[in-house]
Amino acid sequence: MIVEKAERVLEEHKLCDHCLGRLFAKLGKGTNEDRGKAIRFVLNMERSIRGLGLIEEPEECELCHNVFEKIPELVEKMKEMSEGIEFETFLVGSRFPEEIKEKEKTIWEDFGIDSAEPINREFNRELGKAFGKTTGKDTSKNPDVVFIVEPFSGKIELQINPVYVYGRYRKLVRGIPQTPLPGFKDSIASIICRAFSKAFDGKCVFKGAGREDVDVRTLGNGRPFIVEVKKPRRRRVDLKKIAKEINESRKVEVLNLRFVSAKEAEEVLTKKHRKEYLALVLVEESVTPDEAKEVEKKLRGLEIHQRTPWRVRKARADKVRVKKVYEAEARWIDEKHFELRLVTDGGLYIKELISGDKGRTKPSVSDLLGKRAWCERLDVLNVLD
Ligand SMILES: [Zn+2]
Repeated sequence: MIVEKAERVLEEHKLCDHCLGRLFAKLGKGTNEDRGKAIRFVLNMERSIRGLGLIEEPEECELCHNVFEKIPELVEKMKEMSEGIEFETFLVGSRFPEEIKEKEKTIWEDFGIDSAEPINREFNRELGKAFGKTTGKDTSKNPDVVFIVEPFSGKIELQINPVYVYGRYRKLVRGIPQTPLPGFKDSIASIICRAFSKAFDGKCVFKGAGREDVDVRTLGNGRPFIVEVKKPRRRRVDLKKIAKEINESRKVEVLNLRFVSAKEAEEVLTKKHRKEYLALVLVEESVTPDEAKEVEKKLRGLEIHQRTPWRVRKARADKVRVKKVYEAEARWIDEKHFELRLVTDGGLYIKELISGDKGRTKPSVSDLLGKRAWCERLDVLNVLD
């Protein structure tokens, strides 16, 4: 059956052993080239019994134009272009001209062949094997780099996949924005990215899980963040060294740095974290210790309806968010001040929870007191997971 079919194909088409073997790729083991050689060998024995001429491998294959002979040359090119780039795993993809893919399909249809595999699949595999053999690198479904090869023009594209690092940052001083802002020399993002770019030799993008205002510190266990390093030329980087360099800024401190997948990175950024805050509340009209305790009691377990604050209305969609206060603890300081420690849903604006934002946040600390109250100072004590 196989030999008969092969004979009919070869009487009409001049195919190399790769292309012959690939017609029967799904049968048995071994490479397509070995398979093609074996089929041709048996076929020629039978033909000599029948007194027919041998069908040898042609000078030039009419389907692939001997593209598999280009592999050693392409491997050299791939090595050259990936020099100086650190990677452990790779993948090969290839672009074949439409006419070759069409011609291959026509042969399958004309001769009723359903055991074939497409040419690019064999080519990718063979090129990958050859590259792996000379470099000692492995192929992977989730590779560090991808080579896209145009075998006939010899054009090769090298894609370097990004690296994701998870961490938590503590903002130790007030007066730094999370991301670059006109009028500020530094930002959390620029301090962190500087160290990452240097170590990975790539372009860094910082993404925080939420943000705090310029005048708010973030303490305790810190706020989660992700750094995506695009086109890194180095990957085996000592994260402890990066942390040390960032921490020397004395403005930002990073903890728990570790490599994560793209999926984990996404999860970190979309998850809503509860937060613990410490706010210093100012009551111009004066406040007593009993009043402060009363506010504490009323806040516990309270649901807050918060319309997008006036000050961020241009940057955020105008809507009412319902958020909860889980814990509240008041500490009276003097006739005009008390401290509030709060645990709330992520995304509740604390300054507005205190002031009431002209009725946009209901109820507010001002409502509960029956007096105008302001947030004079705010720290994020912990971002809870
Ligand atoms: Zn061929």
